Amino acid sequence: MKCPICNTETKQIGLNTFINKKLKLMECPNCELIMLDLDSHKISQVEIDLFYRNTKYYVEKGLFLNLRKAFSRLRGQYYKAGAFLDQSLTLRDLNILELGCGRGEFLKELQRDNFCIGVDSNKHYYDLYYKGSLIDFYNLTIEGYVSRHDLLYDDLIILADVLEHLSNPVETLSKIHTKTSNRVKLYIKVPNCGDGVIMQKSLKEPHISHFTTNSILELLDKTGFKAISMQVNIAIFLLVEKKPKDLNTLLIT
Ligand SMILES: [Zn+2]
Repeated sequence: MKCPICNTETKQIGLNTFINKKLKLMECPNCELIMLDLDSHKISQVEIDLFYRNTKYYVEKGLFLNLRKAFSRLRGQYYKAGAFLDQSLTLRDLNILELGCGRGEFLKELQRDNFCIGVDSNKHYYDLYYKGSLIDFYNLTIEGYVSRHDLLYDDLIILADVLEHLSNPVETLSKIHTKTSNRVKLYIKVPNCGDGVIMQKSLKEPHISHFTTNSILELLDKTGFKAISMQVNIAIFLLVEKKPKDLNTLLIT
């Protein structure tokens, strides 16, 4: 298969399990992207959507939920994200859209000062995490939301621990690019698979793509975005904006 980001011929480096099937794991020798070969296994988007919609994998209740919440706060994961964004953005009076918002810990911090929309395909999440909150929650897939909704008024779009789950991140980011205003910023976080330990962890998760700094920057470039700020540790944190149109386009318009 060809690399979806840079179109280079990929090579198989192993097998990995996804949706209870052993799939070929491919690596791009050019941009370093490692991804599952969904096409040759005829895995449809419908199957992937159903998996994420129904999975109990991310659903925790009662004691487990409370423990996880306490643990997140202890690690300061969400405050760290806020601090990273605060360097370049004032997180106040913004229209914020989080695609793949999960349990919504970050949005719940942001909802006090901003208008927040959350989108997640997991059917359990509204009742568990969003009922009674100020967050406008949509139980849809990311592709479903992006195709059907206007993104023109969004100031900040959050894709945290999300791109590695998408079957076609090039198509999704390209669509976000065409539907948003020029002032939009994207906050992106992916596991840093340039780190061997994180790569091993990522392979055990239901991830379709495994990104390094190289491959995520290539993905942004290919879909018309550029990073304006980046932090790399166990994860890659990026604040992203649209690339200016090239000179030829400017002359024509
Ligand atoms: Zn590539």
